Amino acid sequence: MTAAPAQPAARTKHWRRRQGPDRSQVIRRTLQFAFFALNLWIGTQFYLFVRHYEAAGTPAYSRPPGVEGWLPIAGMMNTKYFLVTGTVPVVHPAAMFLFLAFLSASIVFRKSFCGWLCPVGTLSEYLWKLGRDTFKRNFFLPRWLDIGLRSLKYILMGLFLYAVISMPARALAEFLQSPYGLVADVKMLNFFRYMGTAAAVTVGVLVIASIFVQNFWCRYLCPYGALIGLASMLSPLRIRRNVETCIDCAKCAKACPARLPVDQLVQIRSAECLGCLECVAVCPVEDTLHMTLAVKRKPVPAWAMAAGVAAIFCGVTGLAMLTGHWHTPVPDWMYQELIPRAREFSHP
Ligand code: SF4
Ligand code: SF4
Repeated sequence: MTAAPAQPAARTKHWRRRQGPDRSQVIRRTLQFAFFALNLWIGTQFYLFVRHYEAAGTPAYSRPPGVEGWLPIAGMMNTKYFLVTGTVPVVHPAAMFLFLAFLSASIVFRKSFCGWLCPVGTLSEYLWKLGRDTFKRNFFLPRWLDIGLRSLKYILMGLFLYAVISMPARALAEFLQSPYGLVADVKMLNFFRYMGTAAAVTVGVLVIASIFVQNFWCRYLCPYGALIGLASMLSPLRIRRNVETCIDCAKCAKACPARLPVDQLVQIRSAECLGCLECVAVCPVEDTLHMTLAVKRKPVPAWAMAAGVAAIFCGVTGLAMLTGHWHTPVPDWMYQELIPRAREFSHP
């Protein structure tokens, strides 16, 4: 982040009110809801697929490979396997393609996976908005606690990365081809279906905390978001403020869900910037705050961000489908054997 030069007092400026409504949040929410709906559909289809093997007489449904988007560690493992061996892994290949799609979208369009796609991020956003509407405010943790807690997600990310990087390619393949690895998606479903008391209390605490503190899970605990955020620092896009026309109203900083001091900086380069454009949407001054291309300083409109994120997502997943690397080829008899016993399998 670059410190802004001293500015003249707001009163001395002649500024022009922004013309026309800002549509960035309508566009972003449309993409968020479309992706949320896609995940709901995938979740329902996957549940029905699993039930077919658990309860005799229930109809058969095909397994939606998109469920592997919920297996980010398998995605990282398979990415490492691919980088080391040059071979696309057989088990959970969609996890790798989805991981690469989300990472690429965030490298190009800042932390857009978190701000534009992630269903947990969407839920989190609506929880704090519910809290703000109900209690007329959100709460902010003291700076020392905020900084301390924010480091947690990087520690968790470091642990996961270390575990994946330190495993040889053969061990990664063996892990994912073990009974535990083959039904990792079923185990994820079982976590939510058969939640123990400790897990239920933890989820309840996170939901309540998210109502009061903006993006509690994403800001402090999500290791995936931490990785995506670090990758987003390579993005050629950044929020840029025109200090000549800015009237220092601080509306942008107040609207920023990442609590970035947008009103005091010239550019936002932070790994916390979600690329959500909430700050741009509230700026009252014409031509003052934009998402821009870092080099040419050209404004990048919200529709271009949405189209770019959707194109990367569809392009990468479409490539996986066209090259035959989307489905995990587990035969029916093996699922029949493994799914009803999924709860018995522990980490190899
Ligand atoms: S700086 Fe703007 S784009 Fe970045 S997180 Fe804050 S509000 Fe969103
Ligand atoms: S919203 Fe931010 S960038 Fe826009 S005028 Fe106010 S302080 Fe300046």
